[in-house]
Amino acid sequence: MKTAVPFVDLHRIHQPLKDAFLAKVSTLIDSSQFVLGTEVENFEKEFAEYNQSKYCVGVSNGLDALTLALLALGIGPGDEVIVPANTFIATAYAVTHTGAKPVFCDVDLSSATLNPKLLSSCLTSKTRAVIPVHLYGQSAEMDPIIDFCKKNKLKIVEDTAQAHGAKWGTRHCGTLGDIGCFSFYPGKNLGALGEGGAIITSDPQLAERVKMIRNVGQKQKNIHEMIGGNYRLHSMQAAFLRLKLPHLNSYNQQRFEAAKIYIEELKNCSNIELPKIFSDRSHIFHLFVIQNKNAADRDPLNRFLNDAGIQTGIHYPTPLHLQPCYQNLGYSKDAFPVSKKLGDSILSLPIFPGIKKEEIVLVCQTIKNYFKN
Ligand SMILES: *Cc1c(COP(=O)(O)O)cnc(C)c1O
Repeated sequence: MKTAVPFVDLHRIHQPLKDAFLAKVSTLIDSSQFVLGTEVENFEKEFAEYNQSKYCVGVSNGLDALTLALLALGIGPGDEVIVPANTFIATAYAVTHTGAKPVFCDVDLSSATLNPKLLSSCLTSKTRAVIPVHLYGQSAEMDPIIDFCKKNKLKIVEDTAQAHGAKWGTRHCGTLGDIGCFSFYPGKNLGALGEGGAIITSDPQLAERVKMIRNVGQKQKNIHEMIGGNYRLHSMQAAFLRLKLPHLNSYNQQRFEAAKIYIEELKNCSNIELPKIFSDRSHIFHLFVIQNKNAADRDPLNRFLNDAGIQTGIHYPTPLHLQPCYQNLGYSKDAFPVSKKLGDSILSLPIFPGIKKEEIVLVCQTIKNYFKN
């Protein structure tokens, strides 16, 4: 099948920057600086500034950013961390990798993010932190989450892997809690040309600890103050990210404009629920996720679109408590009905900077044709 509309087209994003990328590669080969170094330090400074945060530490990827954030907060065996049941598996893996236990919490149906009203049902004497995920490019409902964490002396680790540049009120996602964790996987709103990640924080000690863990636990060469690992960011990826960062707001704006076209074209389609845009937070549409009012439509609609050459995704079909790797946690099948309902009914449509209006119209027309039959 020929692709009519790709899910993401990185080529369109990167083509205008290709000469600049190649010039950087040449400079870096000449400098022989491939790991950490000036490019990483400059990116850290620029990304902290972009987010109006004090410190940024570049790391290997988004999962490692989350893991290092938790480790730097001293979270480990015997601790519990609250995680939404509807998220990418990495959010929970970070907790598991520290030796702590992820405790799942259901999400709100209209935002697909952590439902603050359910947090107290997840609280035990072992709870140390909450990881709100700013899913699909939209901030979680942070004010009640912050209140809950203050009251119960819990740390907030934000999973900002899908929300580079998104805001809660006037503040950037990633700066609302103790530490914000980003992924620069190529398909993210700010993506490297390979793997990459970062944390941002306003706490100098936390930033320092992440830095040490990132680089074999050392601050000074050959003095290993704590058990660390190799979670370093490559200079080449930092250099590419620096070339893309000045365009991030424009990339996000293009995604938002694309979403507006989708919403306009699909507003009369009574079989689906469109993503909700809230007035207290921005949406940068990492993903454009529709819900089928009748879950039975999801798979046939998905096939219908794919047969027409339209690529789609499902984020995410299986809530974390139903994943084989977490059966040991002993959750019942229907523990998180909203996450389950979303998993059964959602569908992600193509969205990326540079997507053409004709492409969006074709996707919408194809959806309307499916429901006409
Ligand atoms: C992508 C992603 C991650 C993990 O990032 P990687 O760089 O792929 O390790 C974590 N959480 C969420 C919500 C993500 O979308």
